[in-house]
Amino acid sequence: MEQSEAYPPITASDDELRAALEAAHVPSLMTALVHLTGDMSHVRGDIRPIAALFQDPQGGIPPADQARGRAIALDVLRAYRDGGSKLPPRPSDAEIEEMTDYLIGEGVPRNYKDFLHAELGMEGQDPYAHPSFEGIPMAARQGFHVVIIGAGMSGLLAAIRLDQEHIPYTIIEKNGEVGGTWWQNQYPGCRVDNQNHIYSYSFETYDWPYWYSSQPVLLEYFKHCAEKYGIRSKIRFNTVVDSARFEEGTARWSVTVRTGDGAPEVIEAAAVISAVGQLNRPRLPAIDGRESFRGPAFHSGEWRHDIDLTGKRVAVIGTGASAFQFVPHIAEQAREVVIFQRTPPWMGPQPVYRQPIPNGKHWLLTHVPFYRKWYRFSLFWRSSEGMLKSVTVDPNWTEPGSVSAANQRMRQTLTAYLTRELGDRPDLLEHAVPQYPPGGKRMVVDDGNYLRALKRPNVRVTVDPIASITPTGVHTRGGADEAFDVLIYATGFQASAFLMPMAVYGIGGVELHDHWAGTARAYKGISIPGYPNLFTLYGPNTNIVVNGSTIFFAECEMRYVLGCIRLLLARGNASMDVLPQAHDTYNEWIDAGNALMAWGTSGVTSWYKNPDGHVTQNWPYTLLEFWTQTRAPDPQDYTFIEARVPVA
Ligand code: NAP
Repeated sequence: MEQSEAYPPITASDDELRAALEAAHVPSLMTALVHLTGDMSHVRGDIRPIAALFQDPQGGIPPADQARGRAIALDVLRAYRDGGSKLPPRPSDAEIEEMTDYLIGEGVPRNYKDFLHAELGMEGQDPYAHPSFEGIPMAARQGFHVVIIGAGMSGLLAAIRLDQEHIPYTIIEKNGEVGGTWWQNQYPGCRVDNQNHIYSYSFETYDWPYWYSSQPVLLEYFKHCAEKYGIRSKIRFNTVVDSARFEEGTARWSVTVRTGDGAPEVIEAAAVISAVGQLNRPRLPAIDGRESFRGPAFHSGEWRHDIDLTGKRVAVIGTGASAFQFVPHIAEQAREVVIFQRTPPWMGPQPVYRQPIPNGKHWLLTHVPFYRKWYRFSLFWRSSEGMLKSVTVDPNWTEPGSVSAANQRMRQTLTAYLTRELGDRPDLLEHAVPQYPPGGKRMVVDDGNYLRALKRPNVRVTVDPIASITPTGVHTRGGADEAFDVLIYATGFQASAFLMPMAVYGIGGVELHDHWAGTARAYKGISIPGYPNLFTLYGPNTNIVVNGSTIFFAECEMRYVLGCIRLLLARGNASMDVLPQAHDTYNEWIDAGNALMAWGTSGVTSWYKNPDGHVTQNWPYTLLEFWTQTRAPDPQDYTFIEARVPVA
């Protein structure tokens, strides 16, 4: 059988090949060599990664063995080039399985095989696309108009997938551009904390300039997707959804939107897909006197580029991922930066965090057949279930500051890193080690930039809590009055206020937020009882703390949503409503899972919990479990609803 991917022929000189190979991830390289030669000995020899050392960038392969692997690859690439860049037949399924085992350094657990095989997409399939709309007449598809709310990562994905099945839609976007959180967060230094080869759509590879790209690059990627897939013309920019109402007569939705100052307008829809994201509505803290400050004050998600910080005294409130990224930048401009820290973050060291991808790596990713696929796969595995065990609660564990022996080992490693980096500044170290267990909140990815900034003479961290904001600055509980020119709130987002500020009326006219009563819930994060044909992407309990990328979740969710639409069209029903029993049982299972994770333990506060302390954000299980849960809807979980009056 032919191999599924086409690559440009290799024309590079021996020296160019040698130089490129220096940048290789050797385990992925050895696996790719099988595709070039048909020879399984490349993954059967002694150059092999070790499972226990998988977090090592080269899977624990010693440098001398890496060099041997590169030398073998040089010979293979030369022969492939000189032979006209022709690939042998593709490896058999059994061989692919063996290659998978090799790459992750252990036998893949049986129940992972199907999942990993699909994620690899070795036959050239689109692993997260809906398997088939075959047999659904075009007229039925065309009559099923969907309103998508939001043109960020999830909304664009929804549009691309609906287009593939010829289902019409309109996207309503409150901003003037696509990109969602990557448009909204334009603070200096903003970048992704998930490596881009997995923080990207599975079907849309990209020549990423960085391992972890900056916000402008991410925004460009999503703009590129909107252009390439012809989405733009179907987006209504600068338009907000005021409300959405399920009309019980027609079993369809009426979505009321407003553009600018214009009059409200109603759009009819067979289904509504909410893709509104979680990290775009700033949360400003309820601190006394917040409105009284006379100078400029703004939130990190609404950066004021018009305010020049040069020579200013700036207060930064909050020390989450956003502050972590912009503090080093503003410290270079401002006269003085004072950081008001309530809780320090755990930092995961990553030396290449802001580094560009070397040219050799670019070359390998674009020219060596199947190297890109195996590289993405190795990252996927490494960043998926690998860390989960270290943040799972051992109910018999009693040591404060950790939740299990593995979690304590993680704590020791991360503490050692902080101790090493701040060895020369005991005053900073004293307040840098979090008391909560690692994994209790999102860890920040660090290459030393933030800690270097803290050591600057014009930067100071204070742990004296803020009592109030005054017209001139900050008054602390310790009694200090500090004067500032500018206040920057890095205090996060209203993530648990799902779908706010829209009003969403379901069966019986019940408004969704009244129904939730402060605790957002959904079946598989997607369906809510009483709200037929409303599907939420990145909805309740679909966020992750240590494993995977939100794009993986969105892709699984969207395949499930298409499964729902297919069910409706195949059965000829107007709407489907998830059964309360299925929803409740599912959510009990989610709660039980979250109670056993570091972020669910009492004493840990974060944006993952709602004001009642209920974990409304996070998925507590493996990626395999989410993939399995969302493969296809089970009709038994839903009631199907007919229109009582004809659709106009
Ligand atoms: P965040 O993680 O919610 O952090 C908010 C910070 O503000 C915390 O340090 C919090 O302290 C502090 N805070 C809140 N209210 C306060 C008050 N009244 N007084 C003093 N401090 C207060 O927000 P974020 O940094 O914007 O990040 C939000 C999420 O966005 C992240 O978890 C991440 O998922 C995502 N993000 C990702 C990236 C990336 O990919 N690189 C970058 C930025 C953001 P406490 O911890 O004590 O509450």
